[in-house]
Amino acid sequence: MNTPRTYVYAFAEGSRDMAGLLGGKGAGLAEMTRLGLPVPPGFTVTTEACKVYLATGEEPPELAVELARALAGLERAMGRDLGAPDDPLLVSVRSGARFSMPGMMETILDIGLNDASVHGLAKASGQERFAWDSYRRLVQMFGHTVMGVDGDLFQDAIAAHRAKRSVTVDQELDAAELAELTEEFKGIIRRETGEDFPQHPAEQLRRAIRAVFDSWNGERARVYRHREHIPEDLGTAVNVQAMVFGNLGPDSGTGVAFTRDPATGARGMYGDYLSDAQGEDVVAGVRDAVPLAELKRLDPRSYVELGDHLRTLENHYRDLCDVEFTVERGRLWILQTRVGKRTAQAAFRIAHDLREEKAITADEALVRVDGAELTRLMFPRFDVRPTDAPLAHGVPASPGAAVGVVVFDPATARRRAADGEDVVLVRRETTPDDLPGMIAAQAVLTSRGGKTSHAAVVARGMGKVCVCGAESLTVDVAGKRFTTDTGVVVREGDTVSVDGTAGTVHLGALPLTASEVGRALETGEATDELTAAVLDTLAHADAVRRLEVRANADTPEDAVRARALGAQGIGLCRTEHMFLGERRALVEAMILARDDTARERALAALLPLQREDFTGILKAMDGLPVTIRLIDPPLHEFLPDRTELAVRLARTEHPDPHDRELLDAVERTHEQNPMLGLRGVRLGLAVPGLMAMQVRAVAEAVVARLRDGGRPRAEIMIPLVGTVEELRLARAEAERVLAEVAAGTGTALDCPIGTMIELPRAALTAGRIAEAADFFSFGTNDLTQTTWGLSRDDAEASFFPLYLDKGVFDVSPFETIDQEGVGRLVELAVQAARTVNPGLETGVCGEHGGDPASIHFFHRAGLDYVSCSPFRLPAARLEAARATL
Ligand code: PEP
Ligand code: MG
Repeated sequence: MNTPRTYVYAFAEGSRDMAGLLGGKGAGLAEMTRLGLPVPPGFTVTTEACKVYLATGEEPPELAVELARALAGLERAMGRDLGAPDDPLLVSVRSGARFSMPGMMETILDIGLNDASVHGLAKASGQERFAWDSYRRLVQMFGHTVMGVDGDLFQDAIAAHRAKRSVTVDQELDAAELAELTEEFKGIIRRETGEDFPQHPAEQLRRAIRAVFDSWNGERARVYRHREHIPEDLGTAVNVQAMVFGNLGPDSGTGVAFTRDPATGARGMYGDYLSDAQGEDVVAGVRDAVPLAELKRLDPRSYVELGDHLRTLENHYRDLCDVEFTVERGRLWILQTRVGKRTAQAAFRIAHDLREEKAITADEALVRVDGAELTRLMFPRFDVRPTDAPLAHGVPASPGAAVGVVVFDPATARRRAADGEDVVLVRRETTPDDLPGMIAAQAVLTSRGGKTSHAAVVARGMGKVCVCGAESLTVDVAGKRFTTDTGVVVREGDTVSVDGTAGTVHLGALPLTASEVGRALETGEATDELTAAVLDTLAHADAVRRLEVRANADTPEDAVRARALGAQGIGLCRTEHMFLGERRALVEAMILARDDTARERALAALLPLQREDFTGILKAMDGLPVTIRLIDPPLHEFLPDRTELAVRLARTEHPDPHDRELLDAVERTHEQNPMLGLRGVRLGLAVPGLMAMQVRAVAEAVVARLRDGGRPRAEIMIPLVGTVEELRLARAEAERVLAEVAAGTGTALDCPIGTMIELPRAALTAGRIAEAADFFSFGTNDLTQTTWGLSRDDAEASFFPLYLDKGVFDVSPFETIDQEGVGRLVELAVQAARTVNPGLETGVCGEHGGDPASIHFFHRAGLDYVSCSPFRLPAARLEAARATL
């Protein structure tokens, strides 16, 4: 009869669909058990039990009974009892949350050993030293993790023993020495806690489970969840599993294997193996693992079997899987599996290959990659010349190129990064305690550990550049320096370049070169498997998406680039950008003009320049829409700084009369709060002739293009409108000029006139504004600024870090659209406008137009297009497609 269970499930009772209840690891163990893979038996204590414990401070009352029942089942299956003095069953206790949080929570191994069963284990295994080493590990792990004893006290005791015996590694300590050490550990626990190390196996188990529950709220875990946006209230499951041993001699070992290469995505199994070792040794990078191929030599049968299991798992999950495995005296056990983390490059290749292998559909392949990964692939790489000898070679653990100043501890990494510096965190090896420093750093460099070490796994997950295992470096954390094998000393604050793709570290800042993916996206030509995968994926994305993608571009060069990167037009051409450089003097002349004649002369000088600009952009975007926004920012932005000018004048005995005139103009146009002052449509209406000049330049550019046989599609956009009256006035003026040019040149001009919606009032009265607009473009930068009352120029630098830390924001609202507030205004405006004018075209041209999460929102809100900087176009195309799935 099946007993109903609430809090404990045997592996054989669960499945992959139960990850919410059993955690990712528990669900994976259950699924592998169902698939018939060799999984050491065990059971999972559910996340529900953890939630009750976290909420009340007590385990649910039913748990004790269910645990006892599950343990009895496990003992039956194994034919041994937990901690039995003759031949003890030992178990591991591991955390396993819904979402993978590698190394963030606790693990306790060898539960069940005590003063009696250690002898039983020695006898059963025939290895006295192994038994004492296991017991020593348990007392140490339990003392630290469960009983809260400072881990250094144990480390110091080990070091003292090593020194006494003049040995350098623990492996050289014999059984007697380890037995002595275990006694010392127990003494430390007694001294520090006033309590004895618990001898009773059931008590060990109960307390270990509790410690794993508690670790959900540990500092490391919280920092990780915050960064990964993992909800706080999920809790962790706990997996209790029969121990198998990889440290029973040369015919034993442990490793990590992937069904494909998680760094490049290349086909074929991939991994690391460490013979005569426990699983934790691989992950901690304590000893350097060897490539999996070594297992083929050492134990061909296990190697072949492992390959079979990996294939079974990949076919079953239809994705890259990784496993942790142990070989115990020639017998292979799989201890855990999950859909494996991978680099951006590998994500594209694997999704593409699986699609070609018909394991997944083209739509599924789109879901397996994302815009952030694509953007990462477009990052430049170092341009390394043969003469740039690296300081050191290590394992290329997470690709990309980063330059920064060297720091040696997480606190300094955070502090210097907060001051705006790019930092490279250098450690011998990392532990979860280094996480805040890794988040703050541009790159992580370690001198020990392989591709599956903590540093490598965590950095890859974050998309952070990482080189690990650079063994020729001597890292002196206390002395804040590292030394290379050629004697070069690099100190805190020195600049290095870290190449995570090549696995090298260079002194100083190396020049960067464009990425192959970036080039392929612009030329449309694939040169290798990765670029082919990216281009194919985007081709499918383009076929799937509903949202159009346009670019924010102000020059013909940017327009050409944008078009190559897939822009279907220009959604925002900021004309004020065309007034900078040498042309500033002409704008200055316009502002300084004392009368109409002087102003008209200045505007007349600007006209041909603007016309040329527009002609060039319309040519680059021939046949596609180009939305030209009339001048927006306050006039003083075109004039010199007020204080600087005043000081310059005060310092000279014979001031330049031009400077005096300028200062007058600066004072005249000065505003306390220019972002809310004379700008946008207000400026166009207030400065006679300015708007007319711009519209004329657009109209004449269109005529010029038509005469050249082009298909110009210019649209005129009025910024910062708050009421329909402003738009009506501006529109009338624009239409007058368009009509004039049309009549003067005998050309029919079809030039839609629309507006930006970037003030809350505009959004709220969008139904009225739509009466006078041919299109809307949401300026979500200003709309965010004005809805929140946050200065976009100041806020991010001042209190945003505090707000992010305190959880007021998950992410800056200038980066990802605030759906509840600003997004709501967008939705309201679109609905109101479509009621009045069903055919009204709507888009977004604020920074959010290139942000993946925001693009999904704009898709749902029913906008027609997003517009973003050229570099973000490929990611936007991909996300627009993913939003439909
Ligand atoms: C906006 O406000 O979102 C916008 C695109 O305009 P700008 O950033 O130029 O103010
Ligand atoms: Mg704006």
